[in-house]
Amino acid sequence: MDDPTDNKLSSVINIAADGDVILVVGPEKMKLRVFSLFLKTASKPFSAMFGPDWKEGHDMLGRDGPVELLLPEDNASALKFICAIIHHRNNQVPQTLAAGDVLEVAVTADKYDCVDALKFASGNWLLPGKNEPGDLMLLTAAAYLFQNAKAFKEITRQLILNHDGPYLALSCEEVESAITWRVFYLLEGQRSFARLELAEILIAGINDGTGICVHKCGWTSKYAYAYLKLLEEKDLWPARLLHLSLSKAIDLAEKMPDPIPGEPSIACTYKYKHAAPEYRENRRWSLDTLNNSIGLCLHCVRSGGTDSYCNHSSST
Ligand SMILES: [Zn+2]
Ligand SMILES: [Zn+2]
Repeated sequence: MDDPTDNKLSSVINIAADGDVILVVGPEKMKLRVFSLFLKTASKPFSAMFGPDWKEGHDMLGRDGPVELLLPEDNASALKFICAIIHHRNNQVPQTLAAGDVLEVAVTADKYDCVDALKFASGNWLLPGKNEPGDLMLLTAAAYLFQNAKAFKEITRQLILNHDGPYLALSCEEVESAITWRVFYLLEGQRSFARLELAEILIAGINDGTGICVHKCGWTSKYAYAYLKLLEEKDLWPARLLHLSLSKAIDLAEKMPDPIPGEPSIACTYKYKHAAPEYRENRRWSLDTLNNSIGLCLHCVRSGGTDSYCNHSSST
């Protein structure tokens, strides 16, 4: 966000040029002129502050000019964006924001209990895009505070699919003060379970129902052996999956061709029934299902759930 300058110390940013309140925000004392009514409508804490029982509200009674409200501990840029949004000043609201700035806005919106008023503006900021894992963790915390289940699912999905290191290493003070430790546990848990499930899909391929000859001619086992050798060759043996991102492993599994056995066929009376197993085609559905199941459920995380999979909808 912008650095404060001497100029800004004295100038007032007119979110509402004839507003009845000037918020003096942060250590840089950024001044934001706003309408108290808009803040009261969007935020219960502001509503209380500007009510008759608080000094600020009392000071406003019967006054000609605007009242100054000191908020030295708040993030000035974050509160500026929040005020611009709730005053419908869309020209002052950026369409995209750096992940750290999105979290700052989320922390401030959470503090003033106005995340609902920011629902649509924050939706754009919470798109995972091409962010690095560290930034995705910041956005995870922001989506958690904005209570945006769809964004939370999609951002955690990207973290689980594309990050192959420890999630705790992506943490920082800002993230830890915003989200519960359960998010880290659930990210690790779901990724581990998904790797195990991928290993199961790959190994279970040898039981594929196609291409089976039940007449003990060795047709089925020679394909099964070639299939297992191919898994090893393509770096898809179960223990190797720990060192690959899930997206890379799923991609390798999708592209792995069907094996060509090296051994010659043994004579079989039912040779006319022999057909090569279609391993690749038959694991496609399982891989798609696994891929589509990735991502954490915000409802479960916020309600203290410990299961990394559930049936809740993430459309809200
Ligand atoms: Zn046979
Ligand atoms: Zn759930």
